[in-house]
Amino acid sequence: MSSAISADLLPDTAQDGPSGLSVGGVPLVELGRRFGTPLFVYDEEHLRQRCREAVAAFGAGNVAYASKAFLCTAMARLAHEEGLLLDVASGGELRVALHAGVPGERIVLHGNNKDEHELRTAIGAGVRHVVVDSFDELDRIERLHATGGLAPVPVVLRVAPGVAAGAHQAIRTGGTDSKFGFGLADGAAAAAVRRAADSPATALEGVHAHVGSQVLDAAELADGARAVARFAVETGVRGLTVGGGLGVAYEAGQRVPSFAEWAARVRAAAREAGWRGEVTVEPGRSITARAGLTLYRVGTIKRIEGVRTYVSVDGGMSDNLRPALYASRYEAFLPRAPHAARPLRARVVGKHCESGDVIIDDAELPADLRVSDLLATPVTGAYGYAMASNYNKLPRPAVVFVRDGAARLVVRRETEDDLLRLDVAPTAEDRSERAKLVTARGGR
Ligand SMILES: *Cc1c(COP(=O)(O)O)cnc(C)c1O
Repeated sequence: MSSAISADLLPDTAQDGPSGLSVGGVPLVELGRRFGTPLFVYDEEHLRQRCREAVAAFGAGNVAYASKAFLCTAMARLAHEEGLLLDVASGGELRVALHAGVPGERIVLHGNNKDEHELRTAIGAGVRHVVVDSFDELDRIERLHATGGLAPVPVVLRVAPGVAAGAHQAIRTGGTDSKFGFGLADGAAAAAVRRAADSPATALEGVHAHVGSQVLDAAELADGARAVARFAVETGVRGLTVGGGLGVAYEAGQRVPSFAEWAARVRAAAREAGWRGEVTVEPGRSITARAGLTLYRVGTIKRIEGVRTYVSVDGGMSDNLRPALYASRYEAFLPRAPHAARPLRARVVGKHCESGDVIIDDAELPADLRVSDLLATPVTGAYGYAMASNYNKLPRPAVVFVRDGAARLVVRRETEDDLLRLDVAPTAEDRSERAKLVTARGGR
């Protein structure tokens, strides 16, 4: 396959023009020049459209955006404006959501090891519910409640339904052997329901299961839904949440269920299990992945005769960890020539000091690719920036939203000064202590 990049991998508003591919009405080559690289570019209309499709499929109030896929103030605000709840999984994600102006009652708190501070902040902010993951967490909520003045905390219990799905072991979460949730098989889930229902500290609102991520077969998502729905019916709770997990196409030709198909399959499975209520979901990747792409600048091209060609770009595993973490595959194209055939096979790598720093192991690229070209990898809008690091002290990229011909910087690029922000300067005392040590060793 050496054809041009498939439109199926590009954001909704991607369009050709005299200066190559544009997104949101702005040519990508212009974005690369103006904001520098590496750069995350999001099609704002695409993000909003995905939110609307999810709400249309599952109903208003039944969709929470799983913010860990991609979170910043602008994204939290966008999801909230489109009527989605926000699913946060740490005190930090909660902080961003609240900072964005999302009201507590539109936020749900997740996490398999929430500490007291996270619980206290969430309860204080009046979150819609806490998704409780363990008996230790129930202990913690009861202790907080015992300090007085609190109404019963609305809780949903996370269940490990014994159904795991997803593209890689690390993102298969719903099995019996999982750190997440109360097991159905060993009776822990039933015991947790009894305890949460009886405790004055908690108001039991429902049960929850999230079986995995990057799931391309709706039947697997339906299996998870069926198992947890059966449990919800048995226990008589009011709410049923089946998590996220809907996959996206990272390479041409991958078939992906739509939100409507996902909704239909999950609802049918829940009905089979006797569930008559609403079904709530928490999509992350399926909202943001294809809306985003990464722009890199090509720095070196190394041809090893009889072996392969290496194309090095100015980012790498610090802005896209997924290939190293999950062996995830991506495609690439040149924004200046989006329709070019791609007969050149090359390994696209980053600038980090290790061989595992691969973005695309065996990429197809245009034959005239050259140093200083802008190279784009599509479908990087989920778990890209969210997992970015400062490995090798690379400043993290900027993030721009584009829409109607305008680009809006929503996260600025880190600077080298930012990289020193957390380093603590030695105090005068430290310096004199060090001087004494040096003297004791016979130094100057
Ligand atoms: C990660 C996660 C999601 C979102 O998963 P996606 O695969 O990104 O849709 C939803 N719910 C929970 C509890 C999660 O941990």
